[in-house]
Amino acid sequence: MIPPNCSIIIEGRQCGLTSTCIISVATDGEEYMIATLCDDHFVDFKKQIKYMQEIGKLPKGNVRFQMIKPVGTDCVLNSKNCP
Ligand SMILES: [Zn+2]
Repeated sequence: MIPPNCSIIIEGRQCGLTSTCIISVATDGEEYMIATLCDDHFVDFKKQIKYMQEIGKLPKGNVRFQMIKPVGTDCVLNSKNCP
């Protein structure tokens, strides 16, 4: 199950925008879902990942970004690459 909205919480309130990306960390064959993010918070989060791993807020391992935008978007902008 993918939470449909951005899971970033700022000052006690959840962002709540539609999420476009799932962040997960893979360690020793296991994968943990960390958060689902909207476009804005995806950029912020990406900058902070290294730091968050250093201070132990995130498990160390390979960070994976999985876009959950509808696949059709690129297809419209760049029709040559349509399947
Ligand atoms: Zn957000």
